[in-house]
Amino acid sequence: MKPDPLLTVRDLRVAFRGVEVVRGVSFEVRRGEVLAVVGESGAGKSLTARALLGMLPAEATAGGTVRPDLSSERGRRISLVPQDALSALSPVHPVGDQLAAAVRSVRGVGRKEARALAVSALERVGIADAARKARAFPHEYSGGMRQRAVIAMATINEPDVVVADEPTTALDEDHRDQVLRVLGERREAVGAALVLVTHDMDVVREHADRVLVMYAGRLTELGPAKAVLGRPRAPYTAGLLASLPRHAPAGRRLPTLRGTPPAPGALPPGCAFAPRCPLAADDCHAAEPEPQAVEGRLVACHRWAEVPHPAAELFREQPYVAS
Ligand code: SF4
Repeated sequence: MKPDPLLTVRDLRVAFRGVEVVRGVSFEVRRGEVLAVVGESGAGKSLTARALLGMLPAEATAGGTVRPDLSSERGRRISLVPQDALSALSPVHPVGDQLAAAVRSVRGVGRKEARALAVSALERVGIADAARKARAFPHEYSGGMRQRAVIAMATINEPDVVVADEPTTALDEDHRDQVLRVLGERREAVGAALVLVTHDMDVVREHADRVLVMYAGRLTELGPAKAVLGRPRAPYTAGLLASLPRHAPAGRRLPTLRGTPPAPGALPPGCAFAPRCPLAADDCHAAEPEPQAVEGRLVACHRWAEVPHPAAELFREQPYVAS
């Protein structure tokens, strides 16, 4: 049985000055799962994740629904691990004070208890000598420690959903794995769902239960990570996977998605991926494909049945065009 959805997103739309950058995305976030949201820059994945928190830029207009409406309980029910750990922490307050303030803003506890909770939250994310470190300022932390402190901040009030927006982009591989491990441990400890926004298919492979692949503001493929990555049915998913170095045959060029995504407001007719898609045909240029249920997932592609296995073959002979 599928776990209950914690969040149900229906027909989410986000626009700036009338130009839609998220164009009708529907999905669920289920209790305890890691849902990865992937796609190239500009696919709308960060805006989709931020819409879950009710944290869209002031100039954005949004449509559709995110249920339950968590905005009134933000901080307790849903929290954010932003991309830039430094910007998430105030430079002028010790880290422990900031954690304690986060606790006090949500739970009715006294200063002393909040302080103790802050220290144990730092301990739980693997910060040694946490009582002393709690008195230090963010600039006295290393990059990896700061990112862990932000995870402590995002999980200290035991949210139902943690949204992590490219939490490892600025980190090297060792720190990346460490941060994802800590995030995973906290998720398990508090029983939260984790929505992990990333452009890194290796991260999806290693950490996600389900994956939502986005392109040009739309859902391209959504389903169990193992199935989607093992046998993608959307050409775009196949292209993202083909671009991973492990698919480079010895002595041959890495198969690569040619071109770049279209700019919002300048979408081609029909399927937005058609100019880059090796399977594109007349029907693709005529109508944008709607998500349909296929092999235990949703796929938005007219020609999903023609995607070969292994799917990297689709992109093998394409000339590389720098993007
Ligand atoms: S609908 Fe057509 S152009 Fe779009 S991804 Fe599928 S095959 Fe390619």
